[in-house]
Amino acid sequence: MQFLAYVDHKFMHPPIVSTRKGGSFYASHASLKVKNIWDEWEVEGTCLRAQWYRLKGKPRGADSEDPDGRRMMDYGNVIHEYEIERIKRSGTYIDDEIAFYDEAHNISGRVDAIVYNPMSKSEPKEMMGVELKTVGGVYTSGGALVPGPKGFGPKPQHLLQTMVYADYYKDGISTWLILYFDRSSGKSAQHIVILTPDGVSVNGQLRDWKIENIYKRWELLTGYLEEDELPPTDYTMFYNQEKLDVMLERQQLTKTQCAMMKSGKPLAIGDAQCRWCNFSEECDPVACKAL
Ligand code: SF4
Repeated sequence: MQFLAYVDHKFMHPPIVSTRKGGSFYASHASLKVKNIWDEWEVEGTCLRAQWYRLKGKPRGADSEDPDGRRMMDYGNVIHEYEIERIKRSGTYIDDEIAFYDEAHNISGRVDAIVYNPMSKSEPKEMMGVELKTVGGVYTSGGALVPGPKGFGPKPQHLLQTMVYADYYKDGISTWLILYFDRSSGKSAQHIVILTPDGVSVNGQLRDWKIENIYKRWELLTGYLEEDELPPTDYTMFYNQEKLDVMLERQQLTKTQCAMMKSGKPLAIGDAQCRWCNFSEECDPVACKAL
């Protein structure tokens, strides 16, 4: 293809549209119901109720005033910029911080970077989408950096977000990379994500996570928003005794937690999503005080 004809084609059919709209769903809040290893349905990604509160304009809880937590967040931003700079120097850089708005599904977001595949034999070279994530420790990264209890793979919320981008840019970009950088050790890891009609391929292994089902969750949320009805919770601030007993049996508790259970001491644990949720006070003002 002639260079100018290629530029004309890209101009008329841009793979990236940089518009944004208020009141949209966030790609980073994508969620999905999936079967866990015990064949039970559970939600991965952002709680529909938390998204409902945000879209209804409910006040967010105050952000943490912990200076250490703030420093960790800033470290994440600095690492992000540093890694983008390294990509620029590698000669593969095309663009970064690309505003995204999927009008058909009313989803907005921001793609971290678009790069050329340096191994590509085609002309022009294949483009790849990149999501950069920083994590706080090899041992707490749940398999994102090194094989964890659930194997080696991106964190579910990062995979779901990337699936949304991959679907939107499917005519121009088929390969997506989720790159992890560990703040404490400098270690890094790469996951290759490709959307297929049967689900999503992660590092060559197919998961039956379908993009249509991610959109269906947002359709469900749209119904709750239109009816002004609060969606049920997808997560739990504190597990009840029945859940704790099952977790004990399945060896999902730490040694200390097991010891507390066995000695009859109350165990106040729940889903991490509620601990970090900006709307926990709105959701359950009583329980939230004990978080
Ligand atoms: S506190 Fe938990 S259940 Fe309530 S909205 Fe937040 S994430 Fe959902």
